[in-house]
Amino acid sequence: MVSSLCMDKHFITSLKKKLETPQKAVIIPHKNPDGDALGSTLALLHFLIQNKHEAVVIAPNEYPDFLNWLPGQEAVLKYNRNPKDVRYKIESATLIFTLDFNHLSRIGDLEPLVQKAKADKIMIDHHESPDNYATLMYSDVSMSSTCEMVYNIIKDMDPNGFTPDISECLYTGIMTDTGSFRYPATTPATHRAIAHLIETGASGTEIHQRIYDSASFSRLKLLGLTLSNLKQIPNLPVVYMTLSQKELNSCDYKKGDTEGFVNYGLSLEGIIFSCIMIENENEGIIKISFRSQGEFSVNDFARSYFNGGGHHNAAGGMSSDSIETTVARFIESVQEVAHKF
Ligand code: 5GP
Ligand code: MN
Repeated sequence: MVSSLCMDKHFITSLKKKLETPQKAVIIPHKNPDGDALGSTLALLHFLIQNKHEAVVIAPNEYPDFLNWLPGQEAVLKYNRNPKDVRYKIESATLIFTLDFNHLSRIGDLEPLVQKAKADKIMIDHHESPDNYATLMYSDVSMSSTCEMVYNIIKDMDPNGFTPDISECLYTGIMTDTGSFRYPATTPATHRAIAHLIETGASGTEIHQRIYDSASFSRLKLLGLTLSNLKQIPNLPVVYMTLSQKELNSCDYKKGDTEGFVNYGLSLEGIIFSCIMIENENEGIIKISFRSQGEFSVNDFARSYFNGGGHHNAAGGMSSDSIETTVARFIESVQEVAHKF
């Protein structure tokens, strides 16, 4: 029988030991948290509070509206809104959990605060190439999601500890990070976890509706615009899309509206690499998302050419050039790796 728990013994033993005494825990997702980042941090929050610890989720910034129903999200402290409270919480924490990222640069302005903090740092993450800032690490790139890892932790520590709040949060992150249970990291163990989460209070139908059937009119208009900008690099199985700030404004863009757009490129027959470049005038950057199918590693590509990283088939990066220059650089970079297709 395949074990569904492939956790490092040292990790779980050490974590249990730390949690034997009451802790003041801070739990941090990456900047621009997605379903997995917010789902995993909130599930861990509920679990720690259930076990009589003080705990708070601190997000570097806002998250998209389609996540604003997750149980516990209303209490998330956002650094951009509550800098004073956040500073105090991080300074006085005894444990800092960092979830769904493995490099402190992923938490933006929170980085120096966490670096300076005296608390023990615990990383729970499934991205490639972890940095070494954490005292305790559960890092596993074979995992579908950070939510599946938090599931494993709770299952090990308290198999009866899954409340409906915890189960909804974990279901959400596993669902969003696996593209609704279809990406290759979805294993039998993932499905067993999902079955258990349904048994303990998560409704798959409701969660799907809340996440995927809650689009605004403007999001669909923006999708139409994005798809009309779709281009293929001649003779290569590569497509890209762009969205300028002007185009975003013309469709009343709100955070989260472009989530998932990049995946449409891969729905084309024969296309194995899709990219979207989105202008962010406020931050003065182009934010880039990469997706691939099969052997081609967008993690390597993002690292080599666009100061980013992520997973083998889903990664991101950024560019400080204009959108035109970024497109030109993207095409050049693709030509350099054309032998890999
Ligand atoms: P998305 O394209 O959905 O923003 O991100 C895809 C994956 O790549 C996510 O797992 C995300 O954490 C990672 N990612 C996105 N942007 C960056 C980046 O700038 N740097 C790194 N290291 N990872 C990123
Ligand atoms: Mn994730």
